[in-house]
Amino acid sequence: MFPKRLFDGYNTFLDGRFSSERSRYEALAESGQRPEIMVISCVDSRVSPEVIFDASPGELLVVRNVANLVPAYDTDRHSQHGTSAALEFGVQALKVKHIVVLGHETCGGIRAFADERKPLSASDFIGHWMSQIAPAANNLGPSETFDRTDYLYQLELASVDLSLNNLMTFPFIAKAVAQGTTALHGAYFSIGSGLLLVRDPDTGTFAPATTKMPNISPFQCS
Ligand SMILES: [Zn+2]
Repeated sequence: MFPKRLFDGYNTFLDGRFSSERSRYEALAESGQRPEIMVISCVDSRVSPEVIFDASPGELLVVRNVANLVPAYDTDRHSQHGTSAALEFGVQALKVKHIVVLGHETCGGIRAFADERKPLSASDFIGHWMSQIAPAANNLGPSETFDRTDYLYQLELASVDLSLNNLMTFPFIAKAVAQGTTALHGAYFSIGSGLLLVRDPDTGTFAPATTKMPNISPFQCS
């Protein structure tokens, strides 16, 4: 049976948002989508880009996967590349102006990698998928040298950097960046506090996107 929660939510949407934004939906149906911003986010149910960025329909092209990872460019036609196909669609067809990799606090995928937890072994989908961040973990160094919470936080940030680097391995993205038609960005959402950190492209450090929360600093924010 279709979940009642979804029936109820759909009815609320129909009477509320759809009703008030009907002309926008009709225009989008008529002319097609033209989102300028693409977001790569985690599947985590707490990290919905449309909610965090208060987006209207048609504004964000969102790709979600475990731990918001971008695989390196790979022409192996025997594998399926969902995220790569979405990137191709966003950059080549829709010509998005921005691509944002959105990391987040207490990411289960990152924790699975750090803990090597069963059943998330290398033979499973998640274990294999998360093995992509091994270079980022190697750069960080041994986890024992960190406080546990800080290590996961640093790995979450490092995986955003890794995905940004991998984006540049796609020839059509590197070209769009070189031509100045597409810009790449990193960000990080702290679920409990609501704090958003934005990556400085020059320094690679993450800093709060707002001064509304002067007392909130999840860790060192650097
Ligand atoms: Zn996650």
